Amino acid sequence: MTPATNFKLFQEIIDRSEADTWEEAKKEWSLSYIRFASDDAVAYGKYTCLCGHTHLKELCYIKNEYNLKTELVGNCCIKKFMEDIKSDEIFKSVKKAIKTGKISKVLIDYSHEHDVINDWEHRFFLDVYQKKSKTEKQQAKYEAVKSKILAGVCIRV
Ligand SMILES: [Zn+2]
Repeated sequence: MTPATNFKLFQEIIDRSEADTWEEAKKEWSLSYIRFASDDAVAYGKYTCLCGHTHLKELCYIKNEYNLKTELVGNCCIKKFMEDIKSDEIFKSVKKAIKTGKISKVLIDYSHEHDVINDWEHRFFLDVYQKKSKTEKQQAKYEAVKSKILAGVCIRV
């Protein structure tokens, strides 16, 4: 990331925030949801980060808690807002889930925080997802919650 793209991102965000400085403005934003760009969208460069980075694949939609504006930034820039954001792990987990059907702890928690699954489903999933043997009922419920997670987070646009 060059100083120029940093500067552009900071400026674009400050323009859309209530505060006038980057340090204050960045605190107004949180990760709302993630999406994956389809291959066509990537090829045509449909999605561009506020920093100017084009042909985004991993899309992070952020929301301003004060003015409720939603903006798109790439996984290239989300970490500049939130130092402890687990976006890399979330994207990695989603790809793994699509490939292998395995759901990671990060993905379970992300699904819960973003209302893809409810409190009960979250607790249930954490309880059974690493168990080798599940009862028939547990297995059926597990598959149902898993489908819900996959449908809620593996969204291509
Ligand atoms: Zn960016």
